[in-house]
Amino acid sequence: MGIIKKYREYLPVTKKTPIISLNEGNTPLIRAEYIEKLIGGNVEVYLKHEGLNPTASFKDRGMTLAVSKAVENASNAVMCASTGNTSASASAYAARAKIKCVVLIPKDAIALGKLAQALIHGAQVIAVKGNFDECLNLARVITDKYPITLVNSLNPHRIEGQKTGAFEICDSLGSAPDYHAIPVGNAGNITAYWKGYKEYKEKGKIDTLPKMIGFQAEGASPIVKGHIVKNPKTVATAIKIGNPASWKKAEAARDESGGLIGVVTDREILAAYKLLASKEGVFVEPASAASVAGVLKQAKKGYFKRGKLRIVCVLTGHGLKDPNRAIASVKKPKVVVGKLQAIVREIGF
Ligand SMILES: *Cc1c(COP(=O)(O)O)cnc(C)c1O
Repeated sequence: MGIIKKYREYLPVTKKTPIISLNEGNTPLIRAEYIEKLIGGNVEVYLKHEGLNPTASFKDRGMTLAVSKAVENASNAVMCASTGNTSASASAYAARAKIKCVVLIPKDAIALGKLAQALIHGAQVIAVKGNFDECLNLARVITDKYPITLVNSLNPHRIEGQKTGAFEICDSLGSAPDYHAIPVGNAGNITAYWKGYKEYKEKGKIDTLPKMIGFQAEGASPIVKGHIVKNPKTVATAIKIGNPASWKKAEAARDESGGLIGVVTDREILAAYKLLASKEGVFVEPASAASVAGVLKQAKKGYFKRGKLRIVCVLTGHGLKDPNRAIASVKKPKVVVGKLQAIVREIGF
């Protein structure tokens, strides 16, 4: 069952809404005991593995609703600007809905797996000589002027769908966590999770709200710096954004929850990326590791209150999205002659 069927009472759907779904959502909340030991104290850490959605990122939660509503409103084309995962998701849901999908991507700046997805699903992919922020500005102007629906997170249905991630976390834990850690790029997802937690509290499903702790990459940290970053730089391409569309809403989530938005360096991101894969068995893309990198950084600073507490880290996308980064981060396999003895010796027997 996808998120629209599961949480329809919380979503803007009617009997007339066609449900374009790939059974997104219901992703696992994985206990991270190695990370708990690193932090110490009486801390429980959980990883919400959103890379296990149908197109391997959380974008599917928002896209199922955005595309369903587009079809309900008789639109026969959708468009997005993308650092990769939005285009992968939009193209899959548009294929399923049998409508046109146009994506604007910054040339040479999206991960290989994401590009492959958009192409194989049959989207019209246009590589723009410019960064994500420029792509998004163009997509806004075009969708304003022509009959094509914008499915970036400026589309409110994206946020509505994505808030179901918060519902699932609360349903799994039986209450809200104390802290909710999340990477921040265009800032739609932190906005969506905060909306989800607040709605669950209003409905009496939970009694408390988490502190929202968001993390930007140091070279792409406009919210932390307090100004637009013209030329954002980071290995975490999914959060390489210099002018987030939901900037104000991310600040509201931070301030209303008593949380923070901080920075992590590329080095910290890649360390968390490797740690997740090698110590927890969880392979995510670099941007996703920003939540864990941020939690480890804050723990070192003594940020977390003492006593029993639960931290949820959202892992936004799967590691297979960006195979080049994985290969570049480790030693290449050793080549030996195909002889039994040579191999046995290499293993260390
Ligand atoms: C889109 C994306 C982000 C950033 O989410 P925002 O809603 O833009 O803040 C982070 N990680 C991954 C893998 C993404 O695809």
